[in-house]
Amino acid sequence: NIPVLTLDGPSGSGKGTIARAVAEQLGWHLLDSGALYRLAALHACRQDVPLDDEGALAALARDLPAEFRQDERGEPHILLAGEDVTWQIRTEQVGDAASRVAAIPAVREALLERQRAFRQPPGLVADGRDMGTVVFPDAPVKIFLTASAEERARRRYKQLKEQGVSVTLASLSEEIAERDRRDAQRSAAPLRPSRGALELDTTGVPVDEVTGQVLARVKA
Ligand code: C5P
Repeated sequence: NIPVLTLDGPSGSGKGTIARAVAEQLGWHLLDSGALYRLAALHACRQDVPLDDEGALAALARDLPAEFRQDERGEPHILLAGEDVTWQIRTEQVGDAASRVAAIPAVREALLERQRAFRQPPGLVADGRDMGTVVFPDAPVKIFLTASAEERARRRYKQLKEQGVSVTLASLSEEIAERDRRDAQRSAAPLRPSRGALELDTTGVPVDEVTGQVLARVKA
């Protein structure tokens, strides 16, 4: 039975950073499930598929021409139909579209097996919203990361600034709050801690410390 560590939580809780650090230290594979929803959303926009056409979106998600690769330096690259879209999928616009697409049960169903296929030896770190509740309910270690709304908006703001994207902290806070509401209230896989998950509040806690706490849980 191949081990899985599930890391769920809202955007800006630190999941992505922690998942990467933990996967690297353990030498395990990494599933960035949010990237799949972002890819589905970007693909839909490019193919002019409306974000409310559930049937077309599910079909598109099922045949998503996505690839996850690493370059010589170990940096991850995400490809859509052969094109490197690693950065394109990180915009707030794509994130917003992703959360709409992710609210459609048939889309989630279409991406289920693809996500489970990431479970390869020696192990998997799975980053998302429903990793512990839906995709890997049998995972031996489940973590739910949180952080205050202000801190999450600040982190995202810093990230976007580093990417040269101009946004205001206020508009970002509002967008994040709106996305959180949608993720929490949707009927399909609402964002909530899985039974037995360890909840960690990362507000004001350095990345190394959170990484250490997660690793300690895996090794326990
Ligand atoms: O984590 P990230 O911001 O990349 O995810 C983008 C969107 O995809 C989230 O707002 C959420 O609506 C959706 N998502 C999801 N289930 C996951 C991962 C992401 O619904 N496991």
